[in-house]
Amino acid sequence: MKNNNDSQQQSSFRPIVGIDLGTTTSAVAYIHMGKPDMVPSPHNKRIIPSVVLIDLQGKVIVGEDARAALIAMPDRAIAAVKRKMGSSEPILLAGQALLPQEISALILKELKSYVDAHFGAGEKEAVITVPAYFTDEQRRATKQAGELAGFVVERIINEPTAAALAFGLGHIDEDRHILVYDLGGGTFDVSVIEMMSGLLEVKASTGNSLLGGEDFDWKIVDCLAEQMIKEHGVDPRLDLRAKALLKAEAEKIKMTLSTEEAVTVSLPLLAVQNNHPIGLLIEFTRSQFIALIDTLLLETLTCVQRVLQEANLKPSDIDEILLVGGSTRIPRVHEIMSDYFGREPRMDVHPDEAVALGAAVQAGLKSGALAESGLIATDVAPFSMGISVLKEWKGNQVRPGGFHIILPRNTTIPVTRSDTFCTAFDDQTSASIEIYQGEHEWVKHNHLLGEFILAGIPSNSAGAEGIEVTYRYNLNGILEVTAKCVSTGKAMTVTVQDALNRDSQEAFAASAAKLEALYNNDDDDDDDDELELEDGYDEEDILESDDSPTVLHAEAAALLERAQDLLGEFKGQESTRIEKLITSLQEAMDRGDIDLLQRVIDEATDTMIDLEV
Ligand code: AMP
Repeated sequence: MKNNNDSQQQSSFRPIVGIDLGTTTSAVAYIHMGKPDMVPSPHNKRIIPSVVLIDLQGKVIVGEDARAALIAMPDRAIAAVKRKMGSSEPILLAGQALLPQEISALILKELKSYVDAHFGAGEKEAVITVPAYFTDEQRRATKQAGELAGFVVERIINEPTAAALAFGLGHIDEDRHILVYDLGGGTFDVSVIEMMSGLLEVKASTGNSLLGGEDFDWKIVDCLAEQMIKEHGVDPRLDLRAKALLKAEAEKIKMTLSTEEAVTVSLPLLAVQNNHPIGLLIEFTRSQFIALIDTLLLETLTCVQRVLQEANLKPSDIDEILLVGGSTRIPRVHEIMSDYFGREPRMDVHPDEAVALGAAVQAGLKSGALAESGLIATDVAPFSMGISVLKEWKGNQVRPGGFHIILPRNTTIPVTRSDTFCTAFDDQTSASIEIYQGEHEWVKHNHLLGEFILAGIPSNSAGAEGIEVTYRYNLNGILEVTAKCVSTGKAMTVTVQDALNRDSQEAFAASAAKLEALYNNDDDDDDDDELELEDGYDEEDILESDDSPTVLHAEAAALLERAQDLLGEFKGQESTRIEKLITSLQEAMDRGDIDLLQRVIDEATDTMIDLEV
């Protein structure tokens, strides 16, 4: 639905939206009457699970309904794809090989549909957030996901900066040091930000791109699985569906323990042994949970100490502690932070929405919607960047492959820095410029971003010719490198984005075509049998591999639970349909007839998808 205010705004400026593409949930926001606000889904949801499902009809489903299928159809549904961003390894989803950015593009396409419903169809610009600790490749993959979804990606900004922007807009006149502690589903980031007269400057950022709530879930999964092994001698993690069921239960347990001291875990149908269902019935306490994850939480405190050190601040210099990300709801996180800082973190920042709202603030600064606010934000480079040089080694020897830093880590961006080097050999007429990112003194331990050759250097003696290398790092975290021969002025510039991926346009076109084909499947709902699968796969393979009694029981149990949850949400005909479904599932499970169970599961899955779309 479009509202009048927005239509009026639309005529005076182009809306640019802010997007939080999270590991677990995603959200989109915009500036409305001078304040950031969420763009809700047609079902009025402000955030959606970052889960993608390709259903049996080949239809792409994103969000809550896709999450419901993680257990029932684990080979057709995927969560936490953000953890794979930047990897070139395809992921098999419903038999199709998709790159992480292609799957992320499906999530962003869903968000774009909300934006289109709100503002009307057409080209939209977006600011998308990434963890501060995302590498160059991960940022580029995110930008590409945005473009594949049909957005013009205006800027990629760091999540903690976004959170601070959301806070900063409401506290423009205060001069403060803010610590943003962002513990989400898959990543941890901590940043120190200085706010002074509306200028928001990131002083330092650090984190761990592989630490978050998902890890806590898996700790619980392992603990429950070990209990199953102890009680029944069966490891449920070896069965795809039982593992998915356990993971979903683990997340529920974790969340309950944020408000309760203990929870009863009741999983009567986790597996089947000698044709009998077996499961778990145990009490799980908050202190047990904390014992499982405390080492991980204390790792985050080490990062907090490091970021303070890098920003040259003491704990007492921090005026505000902002906790963002769903995992900061764990009471132990509050406890660790308040013990360390001797003060309570702020409670008025919405942990799930702060990042999207802050991205919208950045978007508003760009679009002009917040031009009058007086807020300005700068950011920092999360890694050192430099080139490979000859370096002294063991006192008197010289060895290639030394790392010479041109942009030190935590340099405020945008930034341009130059350094001049000289030729190493007599008659050297070309120089290889190898661009690296990282912190090690030898490049082989760092990350190669790109390389090029500067030719045409006049023939001269070693050291006589100068080569000036300039690094320009923009606010999107994208690097441009220029090498210039000082004596002739001849220069060569490479944008690392292009240098890394010369066939990037072709790759982009191929990805776009792949996604279009997916959506064409959507249009053709009757076309069940013609679902295109990768070589070597057909639909039967996928279905047949999942028909063990254990798997079917676990699947039926999950569907039953979901159907019971849904019952209260529907009335009339739909409610009757769900009731019937519950009865058939129960009957089929009681009878233990595998064929019947499979049929009922198929029907139930279809019904649920029908009901929930
Ligand atoms: P985010 O990436 O910021 O969306 O955070 C998602 C993570 O927060 C997931 O791992 C969730 O399981 C976790 N989470 C959400 N709510 C809670 C809660 N009440 N207690 C503990 N963890 C939570």
